[in-house]
Amino acid sequence: MISVSDARRLVNENCLAGRKVLLPLIKACGSVLAETLHSPIDTPPFDQSSMDGYAFFIENWNGHDALTIAGEIQAGSSTDKTLKSAEAFRIYTGAPVPAGADTVVMQEKVIIENNSITITDKSICKGANVRPKGSQTRKGDVALESNQLLTPAALSFLSGLGIREVTVFAKPVVSLIITGKELVSDNNYLEEGKVFESNSMGLTASLNQLNIIADAVVFTDDNEAEIIDAVNAVCDSDIIILSGGVSVGDYDLVPSALEKCGVRKIFHHVKQKPGKPLYFGKINDTFVFALPGNPASALTCFYEYVVPSIAIFTQADYMRHVQLPLLNDVSKKPGLTHFLKGKTKSNGVMILGNQESYKLNSFSVADCLVELEEERDEYLTGEIVKVRMII
Ligand code: AMP
Ligand code: MG
Repeated sequence: MISVSDARRLVNENCLAGRKVLLPLIKACGSVLAETLHSPIDTPPFDQSSMDGYAFFIENWNGHDALTIAGEIQAGSSTDKTLKSAEAFRIYTGAPVPAGADTVVMQEKVIIENNSITITDKSICKGANVRPKGSQTRKGDVALESNQLLTPAALSFLSGLGIREVTVFAKPVVSLIITGKELVSDNNYLEEGKVFESNSMGLTASLNQLNIIADAVVFTDDNEAEIIDAVNAVCDSDIIILSGGVSVGDYDLVPSALEKCGVRKIFHHVKQKPGKPLYFGKINDTFVFALPGNPASALTCFYEYVVPSIAIFTQADYMRHVQLPLLNDVSKKPGLTHFLKGKTKSNGVMILGNQESYKLNSFSVADCLVELEEERDEYLTGEIVKVRMII
């Protein structure tokens, strides 16, 4: 059995960044750029009015003279006329400032009489209300660096530069194999001895939060041949996640099935609670995680090990760790790292009740996992602990 820190190290060492793929922007939200992007154009592409008002040339306006309204420029149109001295152009937000003008006065700061304007803002400065060409990006400038997470704002920015597709790190193809003879997943009736299957829901929903749709969800009995067939059927996935059957009982057949499929075991059993039976292996470039079936163990192992492996694949940073003071005392036996369901408040983190691995009621209202160290026993209120946010 290995420590949590060794298990983490082995996951880090054995997982690789994924493929690079070209995606249309609309499909790229939440992905990480795999290329540095340069702006193909100046933005704004022309000197642009930032107000509804009047464009004029400040040096030809002595601070008092009325200016004749010599034309109008709407957003989306342009003019080839050049402003003459003592002239102004009616102009609207987003419209190009015409040749011969360098300043825009807001329409609220003029008096209009007989097709001319008198500017009431006598202190207006050269360049006021004009967004200069290239003041956001210059053609050829770095727009976004490689490894940038593509947020809605980043995608909107790239759209504004006329960029339509981007090369990003692919999302992994993830398959789930849910094992267990006792599990009922396809009807509402429980025969004696059966339980409703729930791990496929928690795991697919967690994947969805990372913008990953499980490629396959396969259910098997506690039967080695069935598990082998299921693994072989999804072996071209990037990540295979199995649930259940990974402990030491006679019907825990996942480790032997994986061995027979040719999966190379990297570790099995971690000094942690919940999730001690966790298994991690590799077949070719495919990562294989076999999670214990108890629902809280499965989800905890998913957050603590599978999410970091997906983060390496996609190069995204999903892991928000914070250090917070405990709001209640907590004790544990030394020997295992504990991951406890917690709820953060403005002044710290509260450890919730119902921590047993078969229960999900406290997990359902938790927003974090609190990590308590292997060798420690007592933690007192106020002590700073390591917290992984999960929502
Ligand atoms: P196992 O890891 O297969 O020994 O299962 C441990 C416990 O978790 C047993 O009580 C199982 O019935 C339960 N369990 C296993 N898989 C699931 C699942 N997919 N959904 C709900 N409970 C499960
Ligand atoms: Mg089982």
